[in-house]
Amino acid sequence: MACTKCNDLCVRFAIRQPYELRRAIDIAKQNVEDGTISEIPSSNPLSQATFSQLAAGEPWDDIVGCRFRCNSCGEIFSLHAETYHGSGGYWEPENKRSIRENL
Ligand SMILES: [Zn+2]
Repeated sequence: MACTKCNDLCVRFAIRQPYELRRAIDIAKQNVEDGTISEIPSSNPLSQATFSQLAAGEPWDDIVGCRFRCNSCGEIFSLHAETYHGSGGYWEPENKRSIRENL
């Protein structure tokens, strides 16, 4: 379902270290800013900090969970990580069949 716009985002990016979470947030931010994806507001957010706060460099909570949708094709992406115990998380398309590559 992924399109040419979000093709580059259709990867599973493992987040194991804080700098990797920061990098995933930065990539999501760039793609929100250039209009590739939009944040899907959550009615039941996992964390206090909103994505825009995270994108602005504010500290994250114990759990980060954000979802995005491609503005062209509707592909859904998830950025999720458990930061407190350091077990990490992933940036990934929610549809596992859309994963082109594991990074
Ligand atoms: Zn797309």
